[in-house]
Amino acid sequence: MTPTIAIIDNDMQRASQLYNMLSSERLVIGGVEAEIRLFTRSDDVSLEEVCLCQCACFIAMQVEPLDTMALMREMGERNYTGAIVLISDLDSRITELASDLARKYNVQHLGTIGSLSEQLEIHHLIEELDKYHNHLHEAESQVSEQALLDAISNRQIEPFFQPKLKASTQRVTSVEVLARIISPERKFPIMPGQFIPAAEQYGLINLITFQLIEKAVSDFPKLVALLGDECKVAINVSPTQLEDLQFPKQILTILEMQGIKPERIVLEITEEYQIRTSNQLETLNRLRMLNFGTSLDDFGAGYTNIRQLKRLPFTEVKIDRSLISYIDNDRFSQLIVNTLEDLAKELDINLVAEGVERPQELHYLRANHESIDLQGFWICKPLPLEGLIDWYHHWLEQKQRMEIYHQGQP
Ligand code: C2E
Ligand code: CA
Ligand code: CA
Repeated sequence: MTPTIAIIDNDMQRASQLYNMLSSERLVIGGVEAEIRLFTRSDDVSLEEVCLCQCACFIAMQVEPLDTMALMREMGERNYTGAIVLISDLDSRITELASDLARKYNVQHLGTIGSLSEQLEIHHLIEELDKYHNHLHEAESQVSEQALLDAISNRQIEPFFQPKLKASTQRVTSVEVLARIISPERKFPIMPGQFIPAAEQYGLINLITFQLIEKAVSDFPKLVALLGDECKVAINVSPTQLEDLQFPKQILTILEMQGIKPERIVLEITEEYQIRTSNQLETLNRLRMLNFGTSLDDFGAGYTNIRQLKRLPFTEVKIDRSLISYIDNDRFSQLIVNTLEDLAKELDINLVAEGVERPQELHYLRANHESIDLQGFWICKPLPLEGLIDWYHHWLEQKQRMEIYHQGQP
């Protein structure tokens, strides 16, 4: 089916300007060229037709021809799975409240643009839209419980490693472990988006985490030989795993078998929703008392409460990719990251920018935020251990060449 994008706006001039901007992009969503439909007159707009534009709706914040908030509510009731982009020049708090409401109605709010939006912004939104659709597709193709049990018992859960760099020294301070299923029947690894939600649903997430920790920890001597004694390993943990009061003890047992101290491990916990049940809080505190590092992942995406930083014992915060992407051009993200940096210094928390994808982002962050650690595809994609070792040697050589070049400069 052709993916369709709707523009719903009674301001004809603004709607056609957006139409032209969208048309001048390569509108390929999920590998298929998308079509655009314009809804500019009240008699044009029917909810059925709008919801048929299953890819995305660009909706002007207005009360006529369709009330934006009523539209979002009804889209939620009809389980609209496309994304929405709001078009608004109104007070930012009005727009923010509308986007909070979209979340409440279970409608995916991808972003907000002003009436004088730039081509770069549109280009970025289309990229995000494509990613969102791939993500939806992944969610639809979750691996089955049996396939997951087979992968676990055949020990096919494998760690891929992605480094985090200190911006000031460019040293690798830690490596994050990202789960993959590697099976001989498949050419490509199965990505976490296809099995982590299923693992949570079937109660298999601990088995996955423990297998990963066992494998990552047995690679530890090689990682230390490569990256030095200070290097840490970060493991992803779902907030649901904190419900289990035995969790810290179980991880500790695996580490003790390999003679590794908890201070070498950082547990990254997604800020998907608020960490607040007494079990979660008890486990989090116990992990810290045992000297594990604790990192608040995806900060700035989904549920975000800046008070969690003050209230909860996190040693690190990872700023979500949505705030890092195009930061060199985005005043709003710049202000938030400035504030976070001040706050992190005050609270003695390590700050990491994730999803550094473009050289401009890397340069911006290096020039303005020396204290922030950096991670992202532009530096290094997640790789199996041998790949990481090759990357590191290559990268060291490049770094040394740059240093020699700079020393030669007047
Ligand atoms: P995450 O913890 O936020 O990890 C970062 C994700 O973004 C990874 O995707 C990584 O490959 C990707 N990434 C890194 N740099 C860039 C970049 O510059 N641009 C873009 N576009 N993406 C980048 P991956 O490996 O597919 O993992 C997705 C998510 O699955 C992770 O997000 C994490 O929440 C979850 N996950 C992965 N492994 C585990 C695990 O062992 N346990 C649990 N509970 N969750 C896991
Ligand atoms: Ca993570
Ligand atoms: Ca993250």
